[in-house]
Amino acid sequence: MDKNEKPISKPKAFFKVIADYIRIPNLKRIAEKYDKQLINLVANNRTIRKVVMGVVRRRTKKFFFSREDMPVNVRKEQYAMALAVLKSVERFIDSIQNKTIIKNALINNIIPAVSKVVARKPSLIPEYEKRFNNWPPGFLTIAPTGACNLRCAGCYANSDDSTNQSLDFDVLDKIIQQKKELWGSWFTVLTGGEPFIYKSKGKTLLDLVEKHPDQYFMVYTNGTLLTDEVVERMAKLGNISPAISVEGYEEETDERRGKGTYQKILEAYERLKRHGVPFGVSVTAFKHNVEKINQELFDTYLKKHGAFYMWIFQYMPIGREQSLDMLITPEQRLDLYNRTNHAVKKEGMFIADFWNSGIASYGCISAGTGGGYFYIDWNGNVTPCTFVPYSHININKAFEKDMDLNDVVEHGFMKDVRQWQKDYALEQPPDKKGNWFRPCPIRDHYEFILEKIKKYDAKPIDKSGQDALEDENYQKGMVNYGNDYGKLTDPIWEKEMLNKS
Ligand code: SF4
Repeated sequence: MDKNEKPISKPKAFFKVIADYIRIPNLKRIAEKYDKQLINLVANNRTIRKVVMGVVRRRTKKFFFSREDMPVNVRKEQYAMALAVLKSVERFIDSIQNKTIIKNALINNIIPAVSKVVARKPSLIPEYEKRFNNWPPGFLTIAPTGACNLRCAGCYANSDDSTNQSLDFDVLDKIIQQKKELWGSWFTVLTGGEPFIYKSKGKTLLDLVEKHPDQYFMVYTNGTLLTDEVVERMAKLGNISPAISVEGYEEETDERRGKGTYQKILEAYERLKRHGVPFGVSVTAFKHNVEKINQELFDTYLKKHGAFYMWIFQYMPIGREQSLDMLITPEQRLDLYNRTNHAVKKEGMFIADFWNSGIASYGCISAGTGGGYFYIDWNGNVTPCTFVPYSHININKAFEKDMDLNDVVEHGFMKDVRQWQKDYALEQPPDKKGNWFRPCPIRDHYEFILEKIKKYDAKPIDKSGQDALEDENYQKGMVNYGNDYGKLTDPIWEKEMLNKS
């Protein structure tokens, strides 16, 4: 902080950000006078919360519908997803009314701390834009360890208990510190391996979470290690939410993850609810289980079990025993899109599909694109995305050479992917945008990513990545998959999103 800059109280920082967002000048003045009381009022009084959320909703609508560079129907889809997120936030706050620990953690620590990181962002953007002609990335996905206590079929990370490769705690800590200082980024996704197994220099994952109260962490986990003690600490910290993986119901989950896993997950849900920790669900869609990912499943997890959000990952043929046969078909993918879209719009459910939600996310978010992310694995390999297992640089080596996260983003491999995102749709006029039903450079446009992997000699981060490079049938299969999905959805994109007859 500049030494002439006056320290700002935590709640004031929070209200300053909110007031700037909803553009009510008086709110700023009121907030400055009654800051702490106001936060408590919003948290405790349902009617006031409804009024505040109503204002936020109107402002959000204005934001999306002012984007004239986007087709009108795309804006409608994006607004529908934003509404579903807001509704889920409201439902969650309603449900934690009496959970004093989590409420205090959020109100007194997390929200003000995160607000400070966010408030710093505007001062960082001009310098970043000058260097990259882009906004800074919004978050990172990091896999602190490759170890896992389970051995699931088709695991994208090929994890099990035979590996103990992990990122050094100091490296992990430095990554988080830099993303705050260079980008004003407050959100971090942790994946694995099983992140709750992580240990380095006597420190665990929750020690990292505790060290960075101005970060909100979402952790993909198999849920089997969420004991009472772990969940209680998560509640006290307040800045972490687990997304627990299932494959459908008990039968499908146990079949892939091992007998008894589902019961442990149900027990974890109960503990999380008891302690007031917001949690999500992560579902992998395979050819054989995709039909079960439907409204009944959404109701089961988001209504009955009280999950805050759901992520859908369509099986990606990378990792353990990769096989194109397990991919959902183009027709199944479109049906899944329709089912999910219905739940988002009609039920206000916060459900995002890593591929099918391309419209809501302005297409591919990889390679450090503005507001997007890149991935770092347990060996320090940096890749544009969790699902692109090819690396141009290693973070351990980069730090040894005094490079920082911005130097990583600047590499040609990342730049070319970002340029593709722009040429494909982002920077095209509204009536010429490429089809965001198929936004992915690896799943939907494999020939593009293969060319860049070769051009930059990006190294496979595991054996499956190597196998894919040597297997022409695999490559043809991937290219055909993208083309087939294009044939199915290009006409729908043109008609329904671009309004062309
Ligand atoms: S590369 Fe594909 S999976 Fe990764 S962010 Fe982009 S669209 Fe999503």
